[in-house]
Amino acid sequence: QAFSLFVKAKEVPAAGQCAGGGGGPRWRCCRQAFEELAGIHRHVALQHGRDIGQQAGLAAEVSPSSGPAPAGNGDGLNGHSCSSPEISCTLPDTSHLSYEELTSEVGEVLLYYCYCEVKDPEKLCAWQKALCQHLHLTGKVRVASEGINGTVGGSKVATSLYIEVMLSQPLFKDILGKEDFKSSAGGAHCFPDLRVGVFKEIVPMGIDPKIVSYKENGIHLSPQEFHREVEQYLSQASQGQSDTILLDCRNFYESKIGHFQGCLAPDIRKFSYFPSYVDENLELFKDKRVLMYCTGGIRCERGSAYLRSKAVCREVYQLKGGIHKYLEEFPDGFYRGKLFVFDDRYAICSNEDIISACRYCGTLWDQYKLCSSQHCRQLVLTCPSCRNKGLTACCPVCQEKELKVTSRASGQTVKEECECTRRRPRVPIEHVLQRTLDTGK
Ligand SMILES: [Zn+2]
Ligand SMILES: [Zn+2]
Ligand SMILES: [Zn+2]
Ligand SMILES: [Zn+2]
Repeated sequence: QAFSLFVKAKEVPAAGQCAGGGGGPRWRCCRQAFEELAGIHRHVALQHGRDIGQQAGLAAEVSPSSGPAPAGNGDGLNGHSCSSPEISCTLPDTSHLSYEELTSEVGEVLLYYCYCEVKDPEKLCAWQKALCQHLHLTGKVRVASEGINGTVGGSKVATSLYIEVMLSQPLFKDILGKEDFKSSAGGAHCFPDLRVGVFKEIVPMGIDPKIVSYKENGIHLSPQEFHREVEQYLSQASQGQSDTILLDCRNFYESKIGHFQGCLAPDIRKFSYFPSYVDENLELFKDKRVLMYCTGGIRCERGSAYLRSKAVCREVYQLKGGIHKYLEEFPDGFYRGKLFVFDDRYAICSNEDIISACRYCGTLWDQYKLCSSQHCRQLVLTCPSCRNKGLTACCPVCQEKELKVTSRASGQTVKEECECTRRRPRVPIEHVLQRTLDTGK
């Protein structure tokens, strides 16, 4: 049954066929046209056996009528709770689209998240996987009982269809809106593959969602509201009388190449260190108004909830839609430098400022490369002229190690933490006094 549904989806609509009948292809798949049922059947069996297996598994799980009725169970309960909407597992019709339209290199990358109660994360995950494969999307999608978080790349036609289908998913109804999808130029080539999985959290903070829930988040500010707050904060801070902290809750390598003027950017390597950062710096947040921001807004949701759970701040605000949405409205506003993204593009540019420097010579530079040392692979800012001199590692220690490894011609790669990360504290302690002086930068 799944097989014939798949074949049906590849049918060329009657309107597209030659008038008078007889001529013209009746099915299209993978750049090929098929005039006979046997032809398309053979192609699908050979090329799409795996896709169909997955869709069939999905369909069996979805449709309660496909299984035999449980014998002797006459109480009318079917095991489904009705308090939250059912997950719909519909896939969009793509039969009217050519393979080229679906797989064009020129496309976009979408970023979105939706916090909501998901009763059956496995089912949502299976549907997402089928949907992304169906639309030739690549990227990462995290599903959890607390919601969904994704970044996917594909052709413009594919990403538009993806948004359309996501918006019609009953589970996200009235929670997810068109404006919640942040888009930027890119495509399927921005990711090495497609990864869809079920996790405990949709963004890894390392705290059980049952303990710190997205429902306890800070107050959302629109880009305009946030802009006004930052403006006010900067003018007060320049006079040394601000009661506000502008907090960048991303990792150090993200804020290094772009951030809001006057922000506090914790020197943390992963978001899962953020709770400890808050714990270790509670004094700093005492009686403060905190303005938080991150890339697309997701880290602020539970990050602000965590901060609020400490009950030290006066109020916690967060930038709705993150830097992404802010830059759409204020490309030349208080956010300076580039926006780091977690795909092959590394960064999105909205203004020409370069706010970081080459690690070796100090020239303004903000294009990340991976450390050339096999065991390390950390991000490094090293300018072309330093690279030409062979300075391609994240630090001299790494560079030396690489030389040794190369000269020994050893095939083994040692997974060890680099000197430059081991030296720095995992969770930095901010110096409150120094902070007040810094804010005007
Ligand atoms: Zn095909
Ligand atoms: Zn340099
Ligand atoms: Zn390194
Ligand atoms: Zn290093």
